[in-house]
Amino acid sequence: MFLQTNRIRSVTLFALVALSILSACDNKPQQRLVLLGGDTMGTSWSVKITDLPASIERSALNTELQAELEIINAGMSTYRDDSEISRLNQYNGADAFPVSEDFYTVLKEALRVAELSNGAFDITVGPLVNLWGFGPVKIPDHVPSDKDIEEKLSHTGFNKILLLENEQHAVKKTDPDIYIDLSAIAKGYAVDRLAEILEHNSIENYMVEIGGEIRLRGINDRGQAWVIAVEKPVAGERSALMLVQPKQAAIATSGDYRNYFEENGIRYSHTIDPTTGRPITHHLASVSVVSESCMTADALATALMVMGPEHGLSFAKQQNLAVLFVVKTENGFETIATDPMKFYLE
Ligand code: ADP
Ligand code: MG
Repeated sequence: MFLQTNRIRSVTLFALVALSILSACDNKPQQRLVLLGGDTMGTSWSVKITDLPASIERSALNTELQAELEIINAGMSTYRDDSEISRLNQYNGADAFPVSEDFYTVLKEALRVAELSNGAFDITVGPLVNLWGFGPVKIPDHVPSDKDIEEKLSHTGFNKILLLENEQHAVKKTDPDIYIDLSAIAKGYAVDRLAEILEHNSIENYMVEIGGEIRLRGINDRGQAWVIAVEKPVAGERSALMLVQPKQAAIATSGDYRNYFEENGIRYSHTIDPTTGRPITHHLASVSVVSESCMTADALATALMVMGPEHGLSFAKQQNLAVLFVVKTENGFETIATDPMKFYLE
């Protein structure tokens, strides 16, 4: 059997690049741009700040942001055996499992988007993500057997997670084999947390980015609104397809071209359709969502990616979401923007 492996991990890659556009007639004075960053969640994070207040020390702020990311990762990383999420996944009792505020907030939003998207977004697909080789355990790229997919599917379903809003927040798993994977929402949450820290420090002009999920406020170093380039969804290429100006909001992108493997000429992406237990198969190459909350945008982007171009577009219209779809056609890429998204396009 011919097996072609072409897997690209989203380790240091991100789906969007920020561009500062300098118009020819621009004669505003240059403003000071401060760059912060590091590694987190198997990818990189970066923060750009225009006019950092003089009272704030750059390296201290970098340390504060990195420390916050450490806390989030210690809660939500399935790549760590001792994280809160891994302990919950390993726990197979029927009692309530107390969880931290961060974790609870993300679970609650994950379940809201799961309900809203009729299960297209489902954080219990973890066992299938792992079975297909896109999880923490590295296994050779291959298409699993129908039997294995069926077996894993029988232990999925977001309805099997119950949130208990007591004085100490807690979670109940009604199936002990439920395994939660927050990879499609945790980066967005972390972006929101970093943005909150910046605002708490009276920083009004920033761009926060983790693995392609972005939140913006204010102006760039050229005194203009930040502009984001939505990447052409081609593996190995990094060129801009479309420019978006989300103003005071967040933008998250889901794509099929960064993390996948190929077998017999078929591409298997890391986005799993929770109804089939298999990677999505339609012609949607990427979806970008603008929302006030990066956590919400991140989850919705994955939900829309699962829904595909037709159902996704009708869902986005019905929910009045700002979405840019990039669809593969015989003549290249076709972009479709919903009305609320048109407002942000350059
Ligand atoms: P993308 O940028 O393509 O959305 P993310 O890293 O944000 O990538 O999310 C993809 C990850 O989400 C997968 O690697 C997997 O762990 C998880 N995932 C896959 N399918 C689903 C789904 N239907 N619902 C929720 N999470 C999913
Ligand atoms: Mg995502």
